[in-house]
Amino acid sequence: MKQFQFIYQNQNQLRNELTKIRQWEKSRITSSVVFCIFSEVLEKETLDNICLTIRQELPDALYMGSSTNGNIMNGHVETEIVIVCTVMEYPSTRAELLQMPLNAENAIQTVHQLSDYIAENPWVKAVEMLVTIRGMSMTGFCEELGKLPVQISVFGGGAFSSDMDNEACVFSKAGDYSTSSVVFLLMGGEDFYVTTMHVTGWKPLGKKFLVTRSEGSMLYELDHKPAYDVYYRYLNIRNDEHFFSNTLEFPFFYEHHGMNILRAPIASQDDGSLVMTSDVDENVVARMAYGDPWTILAHIRRSGQKIQEFHPEVIRVYSCAARRTFWGMDEISKETMPFQSVAPTSGFYTSGEFLRTGEFVNQHNVTLVIAGMREGIPNENQHSDFQMNEEQFSGKVSMINRLATFIEAATEELEEANQKLAFMAVSDGLTQLCNRHEIERRIKEAIEECGRRPEQKLSLIMLDIDNFKKVNDTYGHKEGDNVIIGLSKLLRDGIAAHNPDASAGRWGGEEFMLMLPYPIDYVMKAAEDIRSDFEALEFTQAGHRTVSVGVTEFRPGESSDALCIRVDKALYQAKESGKNRVIVL
Ligand code: GH3
Ligand code: MG
Ligand code: MG
Repeated sequence: MKQFQFIYQNQNQLRNELTKIRQWEKSRITSSVVFCIFSEVLEKETLDNICLTIRQELPDALYMGSSTNGNIMNGHVETEIVIVCTVMEYPSTRAELLQMPLNAENAIQTVHQLSDYIAENPWVKAVEMLVTIRGMSMTGFCEELGKLPVQISVFGGGAFSSDMDNEACVFSKAGDYSTSSVVFLLMGGEDFYVTTMHVTGWKPLGKKFLVTRSEGSMLYELDHKPAYDVYYRYLNIRNDEHFFSNTLEFPFFYEHHGMNILRAPIASQDDGSLVMTSDVDENVVARMAYGDPWTILAHIRRSGQKIQEFHPEVIRVYSCAARRTFWGMDEISKETMPFQSVAPTSGFYTSGEFLRTGEFVNQHNVTLVIAGMREGIPNENQHSDFQMNEEQFSGKVSMINRLATFIEAATEELEEANQKLAFMAVSDGLTQLCNRHEIERRIKEAIEECGRRPEQKLSLIMLDIDNFKKVNDTYGHKEGDNVIIGLSKLLRDGIAAHNPDASAGRWGGEEFMLMLPYPIDYVMKAAEDIRSDFEALEFTQAGHRTVSVGVTEFRPGESSDALCIRVDKALYQAKESGKNRVIVL
């Protein structure tokens, strides 16, 4: 695999470059030639002319292109138009192009066409794609791509424009200039190898938030509050014209299919909702993330060392336009230049990056998607050492990084403490069962649920240890506690553990309440099991003890008080009729 990269200047210069490639090609065996045209220039005529010239000069060559928010050539940022020509040298290597219309209605059907094509072409090992996203939800599209045979790599980028406003386009030899299409470059063959990875360098920061309301790329609420509040409260970012650039360093971070996904806000609305770069899942735990140059470069270094082991002959980078804004034009190449020391590196700044990881294809944001490609077994003698000089990476850990680590640790401690407090508020100290207040609350909640769903059943079991005073009086309070704990364990491990919807609580001293969302006949049996299991226990000093049990079922329309009074009555009758028995009322 060999690559030529150059900046497009004019038609004459292009013809010269193409002639050089043709002459080089003549002197050796090649299988296919693929041009990628990355363009900040959105003039259809200019792009059409480039395509026409390629067709004239190299009629067999494939070409595809995309409008961009900046191009990457030989590892550094380039504006205007960059042309990258990849020559496949192994006869077994194949490359083919497909271009299909893409919009919200046909996205899934488009992927079906691709998968049908791939089913008939088992040589395909990688699908590289250029996509016009235009604010469209890509969730279905990505999910369908995830169904391609798992060994096929999928990566690519969303077309963009330099001012982010103009309509982005893609084009290829398989289709015309289009503002709503996807171009698939299929690559494969016996001697073709590909590896992919992604780098963000952004790290989670602070508190976890639950996405309580989102729809597509609209993020409405975090923890039931307007999403924007988080930016104001924690970062003092105001809802003004600087919102986009201020929040760029702090996108949201959450786990999706086991992957860390970043989503940056584009704008904030008056109601406090946020327009995000792509779809945000509902009911996921999201956190803010922070970007810091030194942390990012440390990640770049790790990825560079990793991709070097693959010995790629060419590297493609799809990097988010937000990263370019984050670093600024003068520094952005710091994170792509190091890859050039491994292999010729090209790509562009996108409106979204795509990458398959395992069986899932994800749409990323604020991320660098990297693909290394190679033909044949690597030549171990041909050393391409990954280089990152001191200026690029000093190994220094920034103040921001240290502070973020501090915030992380402090947040973790707080969250642990909060969890403990939350548990303590609802549980009983001696038995670890629900406390009286909590079990009463759960009974009320379950009754409300029964009101909503008439088919839902609910039963209570109330228990009181028999002749317990005697235990305290004869063997002391400590042994009394042991007996209480013994019955609690039975309730928790025996009943609650096997019935996840059941709740066990301590009602008072040695009185307990079990709530089960089941009909009376099942619960009666459970009650009898508890009674006999408890009787079978042997305490060190107190020996065998017994418990009296009342059981009742919820009757539609009654209050929780009425229900609890009846079960208490059942328990009283169990005591009255000789103890150590179950009475159902
Ligand atoms: P009955 O069979 O009628 O239930 O007789 P009983 O002796 O068990 O009588 P009762 O239920 O009224 O006794 C409750 C006793 O439980 C009174 C109280 O001193 C004791 N107790 C309450 N809480 C605790 C506790 O946390 N630990 C211990 N060891 N004893 C407790
Ligand atoms: Mg008792
Ligand atoms: Mg009692």
